[in-house]
Amino acid sequence: MTTTPSRPRSALAATARDLTRVHGRGDTAVHALRGVDLDLPAGRFTAVMGPSGSGKSTLMHCLAGLDVPTSGSVSVAGRALEQMDDTALTVFRREHVGFVFQSFNLLPMLTAGQNIDLPLELAGRRPDAATRARRDLVVDVLGLRDRLEHRPGELSGGQQQRVAIARALVTAPDIVFADEPTGNLDSEASAEVLDLLRRSVRELGQTVVMVTHELDAAAYADDVVVLADGEVRDHLVEPTADQLVAVLRGERTR
Ligand code: ADP
Ligand code: MG
Repeated sequence: MTTTPSRPRSALAATARDLTRVHGRGDTAVHALRGVDLDLPAGRFTAVMGPSGSGKSTLMHCLAGLDVPTSGSVSVAGRALEQMDDTALTVFRREHVGFVFQSFNLLPMLTAGQNIDLPLELAGRRPDAATRARRDLVVDVLGLRDRLEHRPGELSGGQQQRVAIARALVTAPDIVFADEPTGNLDSEASAEVLDLLRRSVRELGQTVVMVTHELDAAAYADDVVVLADGEVRDHLVEPTADQLVAVLRGERTR
C-alpha cells in the first residue's frame, strides 16, 4: 500500500502580524501601515507593489528591523524582532538580513571588493573556507570578478547596484529586502539587476523581497504583494501578466 506523503509546508522567511506603524501623533498622525498580515515564504522572489505613499518602504523597514512598528509583530527566520533590544537587533540584522537601497549606499573610499566584504568584517566573521567559497560564488554570479579593485566612482550605476547586491548576499542572509533597486538605473541596467536578483533566488536559494512600482520589474518575481493605503490588498502567487495588470488597474481606479 502506498501513502501519499503530505506536502511539507514551505518555511517562512518572514511574517508580519497585525503590523501597524503610525508616524507622528495627534492631528498630524500618518497611518503608514494599518494591520498588515503577511507571510513571506523562503526561497521565493516576492515583489511589493502599490501607489506612492501606500506604505511599501515602511513595511520593508519594519520587516528588516530598520524601523520599529507602533504595534503588531514581525518575525524573521522564526525570531520575533520586538523581543530584541537595540543591540540584539543590530546583531540579528547583520547576520540574517540583507538590504539593497535605491541609492546603492556604497562607501566611496572602499573598493568594490572591500564594500562586499564589509558585512563579514562587521560581523567579525573569520574568513573560513565556507565564507570564502560563498563570497567567490556571489562575486561570480553577479559578474563582478574583474571589478573588485574599482571604487564605486569608477563604476556605472548598474555595476554599483550589483556590488550592493553582492554585499547584501555575502552573509547568506535569511532574507534580502530591496527597496526600488532599479529606481536610479536605465532600462538595460535595470533588466540586468532584476535578472541577478532572480538568479540569486534560483541559484543561491535566497529569499528576496523587492519594492517596485514597475510592472516590468514585478514580472521577474514569483509572487506579488499589492499594498493600498497601508493595507495588503492582494497577495498573488505566480500571477500571470494579465492578472497583475487587472489588479493594478483596480488600484488606479480607487
Ligand atoms: P511608499 O514607500 O509606498 O511610497 P512609505 O512607506 O514611504 O510609502 O510612506 C507611507 C506613508 O507614511 C506616507 O503617507 C508617508 O508620507 C508617511 N511617512 C513615511 N515615513 C514617514 C516619516 N518618517 N514621518 C512621517 N510620515 C512618514
Ligand atoms: Mg518607498
